[in-house]
Amino acid sequence: MLKPNNYYKDKKVIVRVDYNVPIKDGVIEDNNRIVSSLKTINYLIESGAKVILMSHLGKIKSEEDKVNNSLYDVSKELSELLGREVKFCKYTRGNELESMVNSLESGEVMLMENTRFEDYPNKLESFCDKELSSYWANLADEYIMDAFGSIHRNHASTYGIASILGGTTGFLVDEELDHLKEVIYNKNKIIILGGAKVSDKIGVIKNLVDDSKKILLGGGMCFTFLKSIGKNVGNSILGEDKINYCKELLDKYKDKIVLPIDIVTENGNKNVDNIDDNEIGLDIGNNTIELYKSLINSEDLVVWNGPMGKFEDVNYEKGTKELLEYLNINNIKTVICGGDTGFASKKYGLSFYYISTGGGASLEYLEGKKFDILEVLNK
Ligand code: ADP
Ligand code: MG
Repeated sequence: MLKPNNYYKDKKVIVRVDYNVPIKDGVIEDNNRIVSSLKTINYLIESGAKVILMSHLGKIKSEEDKVNNSLYDVSKELSELLGREVKFCKYTRGNELESMVNSLESGEVMLMENTRFEDYPNKLESFCDKELSSYWANLADEYIMDAFGSIHRNHASTYGIASILGGTTGFLVDEELDHLKEVIYNKNKIIILGGAKVSDKIGVIKNLVDDSKKILLGGGMCFTFLKSIGKNVGNSILGEDKINYCKELLDKYKDKIVLPIDIVTENGNKNVDNIDDNEIGLDIGNNTIELYKSLINSEDLVVWNGPMGKFEDVNYEKGTKELLEYLNINNIKTVICGGDTGFASKKYGLSFYYISTGGGASLEYLEGKKFDILEVLNK
C-alpha cells in the first residue's frame, strides 16, 4: 500500500509498471495495462514526487530485438493519457540516464527504455543481476511495485531493486491482490477452466477445488480428463503425462469437476462418445454450453481462466462467447484471469466485475504460490 502522499514529495521514486503491451507498426493495440497504471502515477505526480517508470517489453535476444521492442511509442501513449510530458530515456544505464533522473523536477515523469535491453547478451535483467539491481536502486530514493503482470518474476527491476530499496506495492497491484484474495477465500465459487495445456491449470484445480462448488472444464485441457475416463479424443490436444493424475482428481472430486458432454470438431457438434480417431476437439458443444449455464446461479462468484475453445477462429468461438455473454447479461459476479480470456472479453465488448491484467501472475496466485517480492516489500 502506498504511503501518505506528502511522504513522496521531492523524492525520486522508481515505479515498476507493466507496459508489456501489443504494438503493431507503432500503434498500441491494447492500452489496458497503461490505463491501469495511471492511478499510481497520478497520485505520485500530485504528491510532488519525481517519477521514474521502468518496464520490460517483449523478449530481447539480439540487437534486432531492441529495435522492435523499444518503449518509445509507449511513452507517447502515456503522455497523451496523462495529459503531460513524459520524458523518455533511450538508455538503461549511463550518464544520460543519470542526468535525466537527477534533473527531474518534482511532479515530472520519465520512462526508461525497456529493462530487458539489459538481457542482451548477458540476461542481466532476467537473471536478477546484483550489480544491475543495485545500479538501478541507487538512482532513486523509493521503489513502488505496480507491475502485476511481472510480480511473479524475480528480475533485477522487480525483486532485485525491491530487495535493496524496500518499498511498497502500488494501487494496481493492491487491487489485483484484493480481487484474487476474494476469489480464494470465497467458499462457494464456480471455476471455469479452459485454455490450451492441462499442465498449466492443474495447480489451480488442486489448490481451489475444496473451496469450490463446481469446476467446469473446457478448452484444450479437457481432453486429458476425457481420455482419462476412457473416451476417444482423436487428435485433440493431450497431456499424456497427466492422464493418471486427471483420473485421480476425477475419482476424488466426481461431484465437483464437470466435463463437457459434447464437443465441436472440424466435423461439427459431437457427443463425447462419438469422437473419431482423426478428429480434433476445438470447442465445447451446444449441450455443454447449456449444462454449464444451468450450473451457475445468480449469487455465485465465478472465476474464469482460459477460453473454452480456439476462440480466435469464429467457427470455434461459440463456447467462450456464449458463456461470457451469459455471465455478463445475468450480472454474475465474475473475475476474469488470463491474457487470452481477458482478450476474448474485450473482443466481444463485455465488461465484468474484474478483469486481471496479469495472466501468469494471477494463475500462480490462484495456485497458492507466494511472490518473493511481497516478502521484501511492506517490511
Ligand atoms: P489464458 O491466456 O486466458 O490463460 P491460455 O493461454 O491458457 O489462456 O489458453 C489460450 C489458448 O488456448 C488460445 O490460444 C486458444 O486457441 C487455445 N485453445 C482453447 N481451446 C483449445 C482447443 N480445444 N484446442 C487447442 N487450443 C485451444
Ligand atoms: Mg494465454
